[in-house]
Amino acid sequence: MAKKEFQAESKRLLDMMINSIYTQREIFLRELISNSSDAIDKIYYKALTDDTLVFNKEDYYIKLTIDKENRTLTLTDTGIGMTQEELENNLGVIAKSGSLAFKKENEAKDGHNIIGQFGVGFYSAFMVADKLTVTSKTLGSDEAWKWESEGADGYTISPAEKDSVGTEIVLTIKENTEEDSYDEFLEEYRLRSIIKKYSDFIRYPIKMDVTGQ
Ligand code: ADP
Ligand code: MG
Repeated sequence: MAKKEFQAESKRLLDMMINSIYTQREIFLRELISNSSDAIDKIYYKALTDDTLVFNKEDYYIKLTIDKENRTLTLTDTGIGMTQEELENNLGVIAKSGSLAFKKENEAKDGHNIIGQFGVGFYSAFMVADKLTVTSKTLGSDEAWKWESEGADGYTISPAEKDSVGTEIVLTIKENTEEDSYDEFLEEYRLRSIIKKYSDFIRYPIKMDVTGQ
């Protein structure tokens, strides 16, 4: 399976995220939760005009799973999901509102405060993770696809298995270095406080599941 390269401008933002010395790394969670919430909204709005689709509120949620042993944080949502093409177009390219504003501003200023001001989006996960695996199944399809990347050298997309509609993002949390500790992003209380700080207004339940304590 061939590795695809990120577009030049995506790569620049990505490099900034990977090598971030930014202290507010925690905002990655706000970005991922907001994407999941948007994805659930899309089903909600579709159900308003599509009689064949019923939106049962209890079926829609965002879940965080912490696995300390394997050093992974997994974010699962029951949102609308992405097709193979959408994985390619949405995650491989920067053309989105927040990211684009970020890029423009960043040409003039130094990046540090900017990350807080704009949604930098999905790529912010690379501030805390050295590998991302996104598995998604879109509403109305019976195939699932997986997007994987270890950062600047590109990404792959391949067929996957997934039972339910929605998206699952596995973040392999970075190892600690002498300067930085990333362990906090595998701590339930820490994640709960980040959620409270940035995502309190999210209309869907955010569940938490911890294994390998
Ligand atoms: P923005 O949210 O500003 O569009 P992001 O970088 O956060 O930019 O996300 C890029 C795009 O990837 C989103 O617009 C959406 O189409 C898609 N996406 C990201 N996460 C999800 C998700 N959990 N479910 C469905 N689509 C998603
Ligand atoms: Mg977003």
